[in-house]
Amino acid sequence: MSGSGHVGRFAPSPTGRLHVGSLLAAVASFCDARHHSGEWLVRMEDLDPPREVAGAADDILRTLEGFGFEWDRDVWFQSTRDEVYRAALADLTSGGFCYPCGCSRKDWSEHAVYPGTCRDGLAAGVEGRMQRFRLEEEAMGWHDEFLGEQSFQAGTLGDFPLLRADGYWAYQLAVVVDDRSQEVTHVIRGADLLDSTPRQMRVWEALSKVADPIPCARYGHLPILTNAAGQKLSKQTLARPVEVAEACVLVDAVWGWLGQDQSEAWMASMASGDSRAMLTEGCRIWNRNRVPAGSIQLQGWGQDERPA
Ligand code: GLU
Repeated sequence: MSGSGHVGRFAPSPTGRLHVGSLLAAVASFCDARHHSGEWLVRMEDLDPPREVAGAADDILRTLEGFGFEWDRDVWFQSTRDEVYRAALADLTSGGFCYPCGCSRKDWSEHAVYPGTCRDGLAAGVEGRMQRFRLEEEAMGWHDEFLGEQSFQAGTLGDFPLLRADGYWAYQLAVVVDDRSQEVTHVIRGADLLDSTPRQMRVWEALSKVADPIPCARYGHLPILTNAAGQKLSKQTLARPVEVAEACVLVDAVWGWLGQDQSEAWMASMASGDSRAMLTEGCRIWNRNRVPAGSIQLQGWGQDERPA
């Protein structure tokens, strides 16, 4: 920990055990934060009970520890932060940044994105089922830490939920409220979340107007790992969980996919079976400029096969 002001984080959802795709985000966010003398936080995004797996949160934390990751501050669990999200939604409502929506998914199934039906008020007799963020029609962009200039049109995203029809908080609200509360400065995560970033930047800016003004984080998106069929590794595609017993070979593989060099100390730590020392060395030699863009198709690691 230091006074550099750089704060990174890793924010897994406990929907299953860690797989190499999530390990890649953990290694990159950890090394990026520590390389910049920053703090690295772990936050458990346990906001979606229907998708969660009992024991997964503990398992993820134990696996991270077993690999040699060390985090600063206590782990936050989003499931305990209901009141904070409620207050943020009230702030956004008072600023006119969101509105109740009475539509179900099938009401707008012919559109690619939500067409804004309830933007100007609910039709007579319709009840609000959820709260949506009002995305103004402007181009949105940022300079991505790894991918360079990015831009999106609001029309391709549509107004999105902050509070879901099933009563759970939407990821887009909770993630921004927590990144702001923890004063995260660098969000380093998989490029599967690229189109969440413009949404989150808008929610962040809106909250900075109606609540504490906090400088928006910088965002960096990492290559997505896919299986041999080109599908993103995930619980749904049956990504094989990582095992602590294979930590060194897995960290080394992830390091290669991140385009990073292996130093002599790295090789020596790997030879002695010390993944913690590999990570420590990784923090020292991390080079953002080497992180590749695009996705990486794995031939063997994705599902059942063991590392060679
Ligand atoms: N909890 C999200 C996930 O596991 C990641 C959130 C984030 O890094 O912003 O996909």
